[in-house]
Amino acid sequence: MVARNRTGVDVDTDVEGVEQEVSTGSLPGWDRVEELVHAAHERYRDHAGGTVADYIPVLAEADPAWFGVCVAESGGAVHAVGDADVEFSVQSISKAFVYALVCEEHGHERVLERVGVDNTGLAFNSVMAVELHDGHPRNPMVNAGALATTALVPGGSPAEQWETVRTGLSRFAGRQLELDGVVYRSESATNMRNKAIARLLESYGRIETDPLEVVDVYTRQCSLRVTARDLAVMGATLADGGVNPLTGERVVSAQVCRDTLAVLASTGLYERSGEWLFEIGLPAKSGVAGGIVAVAPGKGAIGTFSPPLDPAGNSVRGQRATAYLSRALGLNLFASSVHVPERTERGS
Ligand code: GLU
Repeated sequence: MVARNRTGVDVDTDVEGVEQEVSTGSLPGWDRVEELVHAAHERYRDHAGGTVADYIPVLAEADPAWFGVCVAESGGAVHAVGDADVEFSVQSISKAFVYALVCEEHGHERVLERVGVDNTGLAFNSVMAVELHDGHPRNPMVNAGALATTALVPGGSPAEQWETVRTGLSRFAGRQLELDGVVYRSESATNMRNKAIARLLESYGRIETDPLEVVDVYTRQCSLRVTARDLAVMGATLADGGVNPLTGERVVSAQVCRDTLAVLASTGLYERSGEWLFEIGLPAKSGVAGGIVAVAPGKGAIGTFSPPLDPAGNSVRGQRATAYLSRALGLNLFASSVHVPERTERGS
């Protein structure tokens, strides 16, 4: 049965033949994970639903049939199926990793002072959300908060900041990520709204450097090319206390991972974040080019890519595949079962 709830998170809530597994603290063995990643791809490959984004003109050229699914385990195993190596622009998913880099640099308190951690309940590019809170961006996953976060990226010039972002996200991915110049130019020519938000933040004293330069670095970060495989490895780095499971490199601290994942849990899926957490039970971030990364702390991450989006901007096939894997792999953070064997006795 496929249930579509009132507001738009669109997942199988009663998947025939798939038990709701409860977390055991670790993933099942390699063969089982491999089998389930293939099953997730097979199950939703032909699902038609959603619309490819076109507000950034070049994104409309994406093939709606593209569908890649990848699970990266925090132990380093990677399971990739379908179009998991097709490159696309990371878009809003960059916000999660830039936030982590900025928290690593400036620390929890300073970043929290500048950018909040609560959902706006409004669209990702809402101006009203800024106005309603005296120019204090509510969270780093909406554009206002992402711009304020990018403004905090270390570097003496926008070029240096951009290099910090590119190398930082590349360390999460474990390979050198490159700018998609076509996407960058397409978005740069049409991002008046982001420029307006940055000016508004400047008017409230929330951005100290040139707001248009901040928008430029932000537009570049959104135009980095990634694959579903990259997203899984980037997410697995957050699942692995900040150490990339493929390269062994520490990218950020364990505390930064915890903070970033907490923010993703409440804000990662736009104004559908609560519903996502309710149905899927994992911190995650999506982007308008069709990527989603979902993180299972201590275990690994799921990266998906499929361009058709629901009205909130979340990939339709990606949501379904992630929901299926969360359930079948026992990843939902909130699922538990009665502890039968030994009950803890008072005083023991
Ligand atoms: N670069 C896009 C923007 O700022 C990102 C949107 C998204 O992925 O949500 O409009």
